[in-house]
Amino acid sequence: MFKSFVLVVSTLFCVASAHAAEFVPKAESVVDNVYAIVGPLGQRNQDNDGSNATFGFIVTAQGVILIDSGASKLGAEKIAAAIAKVTDKPVRWVINTGSQDHRWLGNDYFASRGAQIIAMKRTAATQAEFAGQHMQMLAGFLGARLDGTLPLPATTLLDGNEASVELGGESLTLRYTDTHFPGDAWVWLPKRNVMFTGDLVYVDRILGVLPWSSVKNGKKAFHALEALNPKHIVPGHGGVCDLAKAKRDSGNYEDFLADVIGKAAQDMEPLDATLNKYADLPQFKHLHNFSDMHRANMNRAFVEFEAN
Ligand SMILES: [Zn+2]
Repeated sequence: MFKSFVLVVSTLFCVASAHAAEFVPKAESVVDNVYAIVGPLGQRNQDNDGSNATFGFIVTAQGVILIDSGASKLGAEKIAAAIAKVTDKPVRWVINTGSQDHRWLGNDYFASRGAQIIAMKRTAATQAEFAGQHMQMLAGFLGARLDGTLPLPATTLLDGNEASVELGGESLTLRYTDTHFPGDAWVWLPKRNVMFTGDLVYVDRILGVLPWSSVKNGKKAFHALEALNPKHIVPGHGGVCDLAKAKRDSGNYEDFLADVIGKAAQDMEPLDATLNKYADLPQFKHLHNFSDMHRANMNRAFVEFEAN
């Protein structure tokens, strides 16, 4: 009797912990027929299949428009399952806002089910350029969970710095932000007052500045976003929010990196002393990943402004 009780308890515990670990994406409504799928705030790992980002989709009479496709085939399947809970319409179009793994490595999965894969021209070029590096990095921690993932850069390419498309009766405008990765873009639904920012806006967690990111472009793009005054923001990472929150968590941080750290670099202040001086920032330190990323972010911003 006692033994079987222990067995039952330990079995229950295993089932419960397996469920707690694996991230299951879920759709949440933004406005009528527009949804967000908000990923976890931590770093990429096995449990989130590398998809620690926020995605979105729009249900039209003619099918679903998906904004970004996840970091792997398995990640894409999970996104498809979240969409299937809301509508039985197929994903007919995928728009990529960027070239970081979680923005596009699920493209092949949706393309093989008949979706058209759309992006700005330079977004697709950066996807092709970074594909090998991203696959190698993901293989390092996803292992067999990356099986079946084939990097497919977007195939329907949009010219110009800004381009509008009509899909299923929805008007969408893409525009380069060139922030986190070269060729990053936002997707703006002017009639709905909804902005999918891609990796321009992170909320609840600190944004990341990578060696190929541009703080100058980020600052400029955020001010251009502000001028559109979107009512609903679906950020690249973190939960759906309003403009004030996007500004608090990302816009003001881009301004800080450019106006304070960038200026220190241009004034030829010493790097180490500058990083030490601004290590503790009460207005941003509540953001997830702050202690891991803030110093490296400042360092890269410094280098960008020092070079120019
Ligand atoms: Zn990202």
